[in-house]
Amino acid sequence: MYQATEEEEKKLILNKYRQILRHSNITDTAKKAKIRKAFNFAVEAHKGMRRRSGEPYIMHPLEVALIASRDIGLGTKSIISSLLHDVVEDTDYTLKDIELMFGKKVARIIDGLTKISDVFDKTSSLQAENFRKILMTLSDDVRVILIKLADRLHNMRTLQSMPHEKQMKIASETEVLYAPIAHRLGLFGIKSELEDLILKYKQPNAFQSIADKLTESEYQRKKFIARFIQPIKKELKAQGFDFSIAYRNKSISSIWNKMQKKKVDFHEIYDLFAVRIILNSDFKYEKVDCWRTYSSITSIYVPKLDRFRDWVSVPKSNGYEALHTTVMSKEGKWVEVQIRSTRMDEVAEKGYAAHWRYKDSVKGSDHGLDEWMNKIRELLQNPKSDALDFLDEFKLNLYSSEIYAFTPKGEMMSLPKGATVLDFAFSIHSEIGKQTIGAKINSTLCPINQVINSGDQVEILTSNKQKLKDDWLDIAITARARSQIKTALKEAKKQFVSLGKMKIQQYFSDLKRAYDPELVKAFQTNLEIASSNEFYYQVATEKITKKHLSDFIDQTENTSWLSSFNPFLRFGKSKDPNSLAKDIQQQLENKPESMTLNKDLKNIEHQVANCCKPLPGDDVVGFLQGDGKITIHRTTCKKASNLMATYGKNIVKAKWRKEGNLQFLSGLSFTGHDKFGLIREITELLTSQLGINIRSFTLEAHDDIFRGTTMLYVQDSVQLDSIIRQLKKINGIKEVNRL
Ligand code: MN
Repeated sequence: MYQATEEEEKKLILNKYRQILRHSNITDTAKKAKIRKAFNFAVEAHKGMRRRSGEPYIMHPLEVALIASRDIGLGTKSIISSLLHDVVEDTDYTLKDIELMFGKKVARIIDGLTKISDVFDKTSSLQAENFRKILMTLSDDVRVILIKLADRLHNMRTLQSMPHEKQMKIASETEVLYAPIAHRLGLFGIKSELEDLILKYKQPNAFQSIADKLTESEYQRKKFIARFIQPIKKELKAQGFDFSIAYRNKSISSIWNKMQKKKVDFHEIYDLFAVRIILNSDFKYEKVDCWRTYSSITSIYVPKLDRFRDWVSVPKSNGYEALHTTVMSKEGKWVEVQIRSTRMDEVAEKGYAAHWRYKDSVKGSDHGLDEWMNKIRELLQNPKSDALDFLDEFKLNLYSSEIYAFTPKGEMMSLPKGATVLDFAFSIHSEIGKQTIGAKINSTLCPINQVINSGDQVEILTSNKQKLKDDWLDIAITARARSQIKTALKEAKKQFVSLGKMKIQQYFSDLKRAYDPELVKAFQTNLEIASSNEFYYQVATEKITKKHLSDFIDQTENTSWLSSFNPFLRFGKSKDPNSLAKDIQQQLENKPESMTLNKDLKNIEHQVANCCKPLPGDDVVGFLQGDGKITIHRTTCKKASNLMATYGKNIVKAKWRKEGNLQFLSGLSFTGHDKFGLIREITELLTSQLGINIRSFTLEAHDDIFRGTTMLYVQDSVQLDSIIRQLKKINGIKEVNRL
């Protein structure tokens, strides 16, 4: 828990502030004074506010400013904007105040940042409309997105103190949106830290186990690297180079990705680290020096030719420059070596910003950063540029489940795919929804059940004579429209109660019987109608007729000898089938975080997602669907990530409860060399030795290679992992994977 005295906090805040100044390399006194002013103002504005972790709130803008200056290399205006980025949103100060004190530019940047957080943090779903807003803000000033990245990085670093569903939402958003942007802008440091943090929250077990293994093997690795670089050092010194050699472990997330992609174990990854040689060369000679260094190294160690990469002659599209080679050490292990100049190294770490700053110092101009901003803006604005590839990816994700349509006035409405005219009408206003008789879509008349497509312009046609109908519930698909229709239908049906009551009394007298309220109740129950309003509505509208009543009476009297013992035989099911759904809804509304999953969960309907087939033991997340059911996905599931990023409010914390003998269907695929008796060996292992219940088993062989799949019932992922391990031990089997 966070604990510090007021004195300690003051010291902490001041130290952080000094750190920012130190890393900014700003020497101009006037600029320094402006930053000081922003600092003082932010401290004052956030006074008394604390973050969830207990820290003073001001630590957050300070950390964001530090990332902006140290890790991205941004200048005075950006530092000031970072320090003030939450002021308008979280305090009583307005944008006008900021503009008066710090000028138009800073105010514009902060306005952009506030808008983005409105879009992302306050609304629960990331929609196409919002995506467009972000793009528009982007083209206004690229610093907005850079500072937003810094803000997101610090929020990811401090995600621990957030509730679980928030963690999943923020991590998914970061995965889908921010990490790819960081990558595209060449901000490698930020990108890989974001990716590690995403993994840490979405797959805590995988993250921890790799982190542990890295720590365990660190000492051995250091010793190995020392032996490896010793002759390189000697040679480069002899040639008169000014250089430094560092090594860096691969990030945890990229190790994990490699393990997944190549289907290998941690120990089988040979490029766990890379050795980096950084040459302190003059800008003029840096390329030549890189090549000379390459030649020296490959005269000591033999290179692996297919692993050579030259990004010195032609830099990567995101600005990355370096030579990469993989060489064989004397101890029989491949080692990746990266060769770059100090300038290239800084570009690699900080992205384009560093590149343009260097150009500044070479050309002596002061416009490098602006030039860079323009370059990015250009990239983002030009739809033909392949820099937009990453944006296209989001578009696909977003547009696959969302459509956007326009009102006649050009206002954009986002709706789920499949939404109809009725949904559109209710999304404007419930009163409009209730009176809808149709619409003009792109000037063509359409009925209320017409499905709307992205880009349609929809003009709703209403009439005050319109009456709600039951089948509207089949036409509307959005929760909002459906619940409003239900409420309105209930309201409307109430007006039929007295008419219905009169009618039923009439039936009794027509049948020459005394009116019997008990019998009416039994009749209603027998029809499985839960609400009396609904019952009398159906009577009033003659969906329930006199014939129905007389049939019921006949039937009841013929079986009355039974009915006295067991009323349920007489009236059928007494439980309202809708009440189950209500229970679920209730439970979710009251305590969404309390869900624990097991098969005994009788009061909550859940289903295991088909796309990723989670098992007990897997990291899972629940996702509340429109119909009140919960789908359980693995946190690694692509589909779940998109759902979580899009509909954050529907995330339900889900955890497996440790409990006995439940079985889950799961699939394995395997390949290997065909050999006699293999099927028998596999099935014997599964059934006789492990006692696994096999549902299906296929094996197909071509030449010497076979490929097989099996579906089996297992208890959890631990058991499945052990089955995979044991299958791998069978002679002839090469690879075993989960389906
Ligand atoms: Mn913030």
